[in-house]
Amino acid sequence: MNAPFPALLPTYNRTPLRFVRGAGSWLIEASGDRYLDLTSGIAVNALGHAHPALVEVLKAQAEALWHVSNLYAIPAQEALAEALVEHTFADTVFFTNSGTEAAELALKMVRKYWHDQGQQRPTILTFEGAFHGRSTGAIAAAGSEKMTKGFGPLMPGFKTLPWGDHDALRANLDETVAAVMIEPVQGEGGIRPLPDQCLKGLRDLCDQTGALLVLDEVQCGMGRTGRLFAHEWAGITPDVMMVAKGIGGGFPLGAVLATAKAAAAMTAGTHGSTYGGNPLACAVGAKVLEIMTTEGFLDGVSGKGALLRQRLEGLVANHPTLFEAVRGAGLMLGLKCRAPNTDIVKAAQAQHLLTVPAADNVIRLLPPLTISDEEIAEAMQRLDQAAKSLS
Ligand SMILES: *Cc1c(COP(=O)(O)O)cnc(C)c1O
Repeated sequence: MNAPFPALLPTYNRTPLRFVRGAGSWLIEASGDRYLDLTSGIAVNALGHAHPALVEVLKAQAEALWHVSNLYAIPAQEALAEALVEHTFADTVFFTNSGTEAAELALKMVRKYWHDQGQQRPTILTFEGAFHGRSTGAIAAAGSEKMTKGFGPLMPGFKTLPWGDHDALRANLDETVAAVMIEPVQGEGGIRPLPDQCLKGLRDLCDQTGALLVLDEVQCGMGRTGRLFAHEWAGITPDVMMVAKGIGGGFPLGAVLATAKAAAAMTAGTHGSTYGGNPLACAVGAKVLEIMTTEGFLDGVSGKGALLRQRLEGLVANHPTLFEAVRGAGLMLGLKCRAPNTDIVKAAQAQHLLTVPAADNVIRLLPPLTISDEEIAEAMQRLDQAAKSLS
């Protein structure tokens, strides 16, 4: 009770900003100070803060029904599953509350698939720099020292390959491989996109060996790159896909999407969730998807992404001692820094502009997909001020 230990488990190095309100692309402190938000809760508030249509649908659902067990049919859940099936490669969907839970089910689905095929496929291939969540399974999958140290024994069965090493992939992707799990654009790893050609090649290798292709689109999915899902740019489809973050627009929601073939072994009793597919989450999720699939929305994301990217290229050219390059797709952009990325994040914050650091000395720009051209111009002015304050 009186122990000198924080009441809140101190697993985060928190910035002392206390937001009490959000509106569109802005976060507001109790003092009234406004910050332009290029983080979107790390790609979560995809439609900005307090989007009126989301507030309305959440309020209406809250007045009707909050929760009912998955022992019963949940109409809002069925409707969202049908909409996702209509707009993607998937035949079927399971709802979770987070990306981590989606990763856990994806791993279980892969194992059960091969179990029911009667084949021994002990290995799942993953990649350096990956992030799939913080559960014991997800940290073992990503395999980084930083996340796994002290948490052993780790879940076995993963082999982590270097990012972008085609020879390593070809050498390891054989008939002992159950699945390959990969982010089409690494988020935490520093906005590292997998080139379309590589994703196509990976799909071919999986087809040749029977390995399932599991895409983690928790961060790069839900419109972030200018397509509903990032893999669409490569013209391929996965067998299994993890989704979360943007799908709930800020309400906790995740999902595993799969083909009938990959999912066939997941029969009644093989998986479950108390909250997964909760009526509140699914009502909001359905509205998010409806807005994102409205004619012109995703083209708008591409257009705004191109504008932001062009302005960032200019910033890099003007401050070559601070910045090295721009990378990413759509409104999932990374600035590869020469100066320490955390210094730049802090300097931007002093200009009331929020950005997120990532691995590989990158700062991430993940604005709401609804950001306006004027707000992009404002963000760039603040970023330029921040750069000037450092040089
Ligand atoms: C955030 C993230 C996760 C984990 O999602 P949580 O909702 O935090 O559990 C998994 N994969 C990727 C690519 C992510 O960005």
